[in-house]
Amino acid sequence: MENLEKIVVPLIDWYQLNHRVLPWRTEKTPYRVWVSEIMLQQTRVEAVKEYFNRFMREIPDVSSLANIDDDKLLKLWEGLGYYNRARNLKKAANKIVEQGVFPNTYEELVKLPGIGDYTAGAIASICYLERVSAIDGNVLRVISRIVGSYDNIADNKTKEKIRELLIPILPERVDLFNQALMELGALICVPNGEPNCEQCPVYDICFAYNKHETSNLPVKKKKELRKIEERTVLFISDRDTIVLQKRESRGLLAGMYEFPNYLNHLTEKEILEAIGELREHVIRIEFLGDTKHIFSHIEWHMHNYFIVLDMLPKNLEKLWVTLSDLDHIYAVPTAFSKGRLLYEDRKES
Ligand code: SF4
Repeated sequence: MENLEKIVVPLIDWYQLNHRVLPWRTEKTPYRVWVSEIMLQQTRVEAVKEYFNRFMREIPDVSSLANIDDDKLLKLWEGLGYYNRARNLKKAANKIVEQGVFPNTYEELVKLPGIGDYTAGAIASICYLERVSAIDGNVLRVISRIVGSYDNIADNKTKEKIRELLIPILPERVDLFNQALMELGALICVPNGEPNCEQCPVYDICFAYNKHETSNLPVKKKKELRKIEERTVLFISDRDTIVLQKRESRGLLAGMYEFPNYLNHLTEKEILEAIGELREHVIRIEFLGDTKHIFSHIEWHMHNYFIVLDMLPKNLEKLWVTLSDLDHIYAVPTAFSKGRLLYEDRKES
């Protein structure tokens, strides 16, 4: 599009009048922008606000992040999901502490664990006014609509084409421009339902608006179907305490605590085999119900059971915890929340 630079001034003006007041925008340090951008990946702004404020209270700077206990970090992240984001924050904080200074260019930022092209662009442009773009899903959608691009936005090549379009028009106040594009995508040029074009500052030059193509743009190829995994989850309890275990340090939900669970929907006989020596103390096995949790590439279909024990065989190498400790000390993934509610309801009845 030849006249794409025409969007710059109207967008910046619109942003200055209409942007949302958000905690990470009021005091804009690289640390705060970085943490907020990582939290905002795959997560709604409203959900992030409280997590962000709590995180900043508990871990106010890079050196405290580098030194935070892993369990405490995961506890602060509990419920946000995609826990590798938290682990990578800590890894990156360690590198920054080693280097002695927060990186201030896109090239340096993108080398840090967990910081991809978009996040590096966002920090470099918002905090250091480096003329680089920050292209997230919002920006891909907005620019595809404005210029009338029918390229698949799930394809990396499309992102590179859009970057090429943006490079020549990035203004001195690249911080405001990049944020304006993202904010327009979040508030006006929305992904679901019709965009609110009448309130858009660039509708007069927008291809999608003028050609009535907003419902066809952007083009996004359908996601592949997620793999479905059946799991049997066990709430093994003597009514005061419950068994927890720690997940492997690699892979999905690495290093978090969980209720013992096994692949497939096990029969009662198979459950008794799976719990080993604990079976000597089982009074009964109660089916609690089925629950489901959706990760990005996999769905867990969980069959939850309450395993009632007569006593605590504490000599066995199991982690027994009270429900209060479960709330305050151990980070348990949200995937188990609905099953836990079923267990607590049954325990009380
Ligand atoms: S005019 Fe409509 S489709 Fe075009 S950028 Fe604005 S909100 Fe999006």
